[in-house]
Amino acid sequence: MAQPFVQLKGVQKTYDGENLVVRDLNLDIQEGEFLTMLGPSGSGKTTTLMMLAGFETATHGEIFLDGKPINRLAPEDRNIGMVFQSYALFPHMTVAENVAFPLMVRGVPKAGLAERVTKALAMVGLKGYEDRRPAQLSGGQQQRVAVSRALVFEPKLVLMDEPLSALDKQLREQMQYEIKQLHHRLGVTVVYVTHDQGEALTMSDRVAVFNNGVVQQLDTPERLYEQPGNAFVASFIGENNKLRGEVMSLDAPWCSVKLADGSLIKARAVAAGAVGSRTMLSLRPERIVINPPAGSCDIVAPARVSDVTYLGDHLRVRAQAFGEQTMVVKVPNASKDRIVGIDHDIQIGWRAEDCHALDVSA
Ligand code: ADP
Repeated sequence: MAQPFVQLKGVQKTYDGENLVVRDLNLDIQEGEFLTMLGPSGSGKTTTLMMLAGFETATHGEIFLDGKPINRLAPEDRNIGMVFQSYALFPHMTVAENVAFPLMVRGVPKAGLAERVTKALAMVGLKGYEDRRPAQLSGGQQQRVAVSRALVFEPKLVLMDEPLSALDKQLREQMQYEIKQLHHRLGVTVVYVTHDQGEALTMSDRVAVFNNGVVQQLDTPERLYEQPGNAFVASFIGENNKLRGEVMSLDAPWCSVKLADGSLIKARAVAAGAVGSRTMLSLRPERIVINPPAGSCDIVAPARVSDVTYLGDHLRVRAQAFGEQTMVVKVPNASKDRIVGIDHDIQIGWRAEDCHALDVSA
């Protein structure tokens, strides 16, 4: 594999000398990659981004950019573009002056400056807005200016910290698409921070899921969703049915788990631990079939419908099974004939490979 473009090696950070908000972080980012740091508030994402940018120093460990250690390099010498949630545009400057700012700071000669600014604004669809002030632009337009300003000096790495969280849903989705397109077109490496899992899955080549200053899993969106490595990742990404139980037997890659009501469930032993340990079975709602055709499922259990919600393209069914356990089932609209009303007895079924026994300690 090629040398990583960005490399964090054994990076730790404490602000108060006591609590590590980033613990032993090892992360390799390839050139041209779109890597997202995803996690709940306070998990250490922004701190990591700030260490990359040079606004915070690592307490331990080394950070490399293009093979060179950058720990002791000032932010302006790192050649990294940044986009913040708050846009951070200069209100008294015009759009063109805002975008020109990084070029001026870098001592780029005046000749050709306007051309580069116009080109950078055209990239985000704002050609012709040069003379406006930020206050005369919508939130989405302001964020486009911020993106344009981060790209104008053609950095090889761009860091984005929750850049879309101030925008409404529709605009956010539009901007997600635009940023993704820019990334494709320019081939620039992007490190992106968000707490929104949908955004992370849509935009990224790979996602690093943070919790308590530790990367819980670093993987493609598909693998994070289909093969979460632990209970935290399974819960944080997408919806999932959780069934707690005890590992009764192991026969790799399978295990058998006893639930509270005594049911024995065969599942994939992703991180199940030894026989006798507590585990959590994780099962996506769309993997459960209601009244499955005979022989189509490995696990079939009786259940009672407690709620049905119509959501257009699919229906959400809640059903009680395994004693008091509420199971959520997503039924595609096309299969809604299978559904019966509330309080009806049904069968729910799934394939053993779709049910993952996970570590509960993370
Ligand atoms: P995230 O971006 O995942 O929300 P942060 O990296 O901002 O997480 O914060 C991680 C932890 O570090 C939090 O507990 C936060 O309160 C703390 N923290 C962040 N910045 C500072 C700072 N400048 N001084 C002291 N503590 C900080």
